[in-house]
Amino acid sequence: MFIDQPFQTTLAAKIQLEDIGLHSGRYVRAVICPAPANSGIKFRRIDVEESLQTVPAHAEYATEARLCTRIENGEGVGLETVEHFMAAFAGLGVDNAIVDIDASEAPILDGSSKPLVDAINRVGLTVQPARRRHLVVTKPIEVQLECGAWARIEPADHLEIDIEIDFEDTAIGKQNYHYRHGNGKFEAELAGARTFCQMRDVEFMQNAGLALGGSLNNAVVVENGAVLNEGGLRMENEFVRHKALDCLGDLYLLGMQIRGKLTSFRPGHALSTKLVQALWRDTMAYQIIEDGVPMASSDGYALPEVAAAAAV
Ligand SMILES: [Zn+2]
Repeated sequence: MFIDQPFQTTLAAKIQLEDIGLHSGRYVRAVICPAPANSGIKFRRIDVEESLQTVPAHAEYATEARLCTRIENGEGVGLETVEHFMAAFAGLGVDNAIVDIDASEAPILDGSSKPLVDAINRVGLTVQPARRRHLVVTKPIEVQLECGAWARIEPADHLEIDIEIDFEDTAIGKQNYHYRHGNGKFEAELAGARTFCQMRDVEFMQNAGLALGGSLNNAVVVENGAVLNEGGLRMENEFVRHKALDCLGDLYLLGMQIRGKLTSFRPGHALSTKLVQALWRDTMAYQIIEDGVPMASSDGYALPEVAAAAAV
């Protein structure tokens, strides 16, 4: 159990996962490798030139994307749909890892973080000889979108996520969820919750060249008040739990575990990305704590290095 302990962790061994990409529909391979202490989570696009491959999973590198979280390095090399990987790392307490991917999006797997959690748990984690850092929210930050969605993060002793969704289709409707991060909580409450959409959105997205790999194998699909997947839902409130999973993954773009409470109405990736960037850039709104002691300022925490391509 690696959430409530003071040292950094990485994977004990490499793991490999293969599946299609949600948007491209193409086959993608991901290899998650152990990484040194204080290196954070990084993705590597192994299908491009070596000097351009590294894309740090950090708020500073998050960019606009439709229906997913995208990160992009200074050379314009990007990667989409990283959120379920990030949620698994945040949820299990993985501080450092390198994820090699041979395409421009991560594999969708079953639309949840469960296959990742199972694979990581099979090899286990190694505790590293470096203290874990936490980002402690010290001042509320709030952002909103024109559609009326909003998100706020404020001081709290633990990471808590309190969200509400409101969908027209009565199969989803209005749902609330409160998540309190801690050992075993992610696996028990969120990891298996799958991404979802409305049938009419599938046609719209596929006409726009998106979600070409989407199917009932990797998403819950609803239409006219009914769940179309055989076997129905995996758990009560699966929809809002998945949104909490997405929020946890997006918050991990701050590069470390967080102490603060997120409240959000109609959360989505554009909103979460806006929130983590607003928080990260307001250095008066948080402290980075190591071993119970605040580091001098956010200056004491170096941003992950972008691929040194420009220098080569
Ligand atoms: Zn998701």
